[in-house]
Amino acid sequence: MKNEQGRWKMNMAKDPVCGMNVDEMSAKYKSEHMGKTYYFCSQMCKTTFDKNPTEYVGGGGGHSEHSCCCC
Ligand SMILES: [Zn+2]
Repeated sequence: MKNEQGRWKMNMAKDPVCGMNVDEMSAKYKSEHMGKTYYFCSQMCKTTFDKNPTEYVGGGGGHSEHSCCCC
């Protein structure tokens, strides 16, 4: 949403699993996580992400192993 005239430019999203750039318009593989849409280059990357999304979105800062505070 920076520049209206940038429409011709392709919307590239980054595949969080392998780091590849994926064209949002033609991406066949995508997943939603925490209200955000992620795009993947292949079914394999999507499956990998779906199994453990927090590992790839980098939200937990490496403390995802056991986050329960009461036990
Ligand atoms: Zn990929």
